[in-house]
Formats: sequence, C-alpha cells, structure tokens
Amino acid sequence: MKNPNLNTLTVDHLYHLGLDSSMDLNGIFGDVKFVCMMGSALRIRDFAEKLARTLELNLTDEELQPIGKTERCSMYKVGPVICVSHGMGAPSILIFLHELSKLMEYAGVSDAQFIRIGTSGGLGIAPGTVVVSQGVLNGKLEPCFEQIGLGKTLRYATSIHQPLADALLNARGDFEAVFGLTLGTDDFYEGQGRMDGALLPPYTEEERMNFLHRAHEHGVRNIEMESTAFTSFCHRANIPAALVCATFINRLNGDQVTTTAEEQMKFSSYADELVLRYLKVIVVSR
Ligand code: URA
Repeated sequence: MKNPNLNTLTVDHLYHLGLDSSMDLNGIFGDVKFVCMMGSALRIRDFAEKLARTLELNLTDEELQPIGKTERCSMYKVGPVICVSHGMGAPSILIFLHELSKLMEYAGVSDAQFIRIGTSGGLGIAPGTVVVSQGVLNGKLEPCFEQIGLGKTLRYATSIHQPLADALLNARGDFEAVFGLTLGTDDFYEGQGRMDGALLPPYTEEERMNFLHRAHEHGVRNIEMESTAFTSFCHRANIPAALVCATFINRLNGDQVTTTAEEQMKFSSYADELVLRYLKVIVVSR
C-alpha cells in the first residue's frame, strides 16, 4: 500500500498523533495485530481498560497512559491492540487513518485488522441492538465515498472485509446483534434527515420519512458519520476492516436521542463486548 512519495521524506511527522518516523516505532508497535477505533477519547480509554482486563494483562496505570499527543485523539496500546479515538465525521477519521496506516508501515506491521466501534442511530431495530456492517452506503444510498480533491469529485468504493465481519457477528453470544447496511452521512442533522436541527430543513416530514423507509428497504439498519471514509480508505489501503456499532435510537420513530447517559453506556458496552470477545479468542489462541 505504501505511497512512494514517502520515500523522499527524511523524517515523516505524524502530526496529529505526535509521533514521527525517526522514533523506534517498530520497538513500540511492531507486534500490533489490531487497531480499534472509536469517536470518543473517553470511550476509548474505557475500552482500553476493559481490553487489558479481558486479555488479563494486569497493566498498571502508568502502563496504560496515552501514547503521543492527546490534543486531537487518545491512543493506547494494550498487548497487540492499538486503541485510538478518531473524533467525529469523515475529515477527522481520515486524518487518523492516514497517520495510523503510515505508523503501521513504519513499525513493520503489514497484517493489522482495523475495527471501528461506533455509536449510531438504528433504522427499524430496537435501540441497544448492535449492528455489524455488511456494507456501507453514502447519503445517496450508493456504496461509495465521495471526496472533492483538486476541484474534482473523487469516488471510492466502500468495502468491508466479510470474513472479519462474520467473525465479529459470531462473537455476539447472547447480545442482540444483526448484520445490516450502514448509512454513512456527512452530518448528524440534515445529513441524516432530522427535522430538529437549528435551521428549517430543505425537505418535508413526508420526504424524510420516504427516504428513511427507502433506506430501510435497501437493508440499511444504522446511520452514522464515519463508515464511508473508514471502509473506502481501508479498501484502498488493502487493510481488512469491519464496523460494529451500538444503536441509541430507532430513527423510524423520531430524531431526538432521548436514551439516558446510563442507557447509552450500556448500549455502547454491548458493541465493546462483542469486539472484546472476538479479540480474546484470537489473541489467546495465538
Ligand atoms: N450517531 C449518529 O451519527 N446518529 C445518531 O442518530 C446517533 C448517533
């Protein structure tokens, strides 16, 4: 996957991670097999702690400190797993995907799997259901990510790694988890057809319900803001990638996320748990 332009750099500064290629990245990250990403820095810290317990690593507080800069993200290394936050939306996750995959390259890691553990709105499913993505559509219900570069619209296919998605769903145990298509949008409000943004929406209630029903008929089961960028980037970079999302709301019933903070923590923990079970089986069986 390596970009040949990188060969011209004496030192590559991974600016947002606060690391650079002159560091002993192989020494720190050379054993990495998984990169787990989620939006929030608080949730990734919690996930890293749970992972350390799951893998019975007995890490001290000092050993579980964030690596690199923490202005824009928090990154932890727990055994062979990088746990890192990526902020909200495609622009933010793309920055981290570029820098994390260069980090893997400089560390000599060629086979890491990337898993995004997200939060999302559900579509026609009960809040709390975990969705493992079977495919990803953009806001036009097309399986691609559109980005403007040098004045042109560039289109990249979104593609998940089906064996990884299968293995993740198989780790669900007794959690309510389903396969479904994920709709990745550029915004939480009008991008997801909400009526409750700050501005009068440029569509009617009927138009938005028609769209949500059409998406549901296509097989969409959840809606979030990073999946198109995540899956198209990983596909281009030849990185096996999958998405596991908690759902906080059924968008066929409304717009406002009214689940309590406790419920949201519980629902997020189901998605975490599914990934933790998958990681435990793989890491322990090596
Ligand atoms: N995240 C989203 O992007 N949309 C929702 O409805 C809930 C969480």
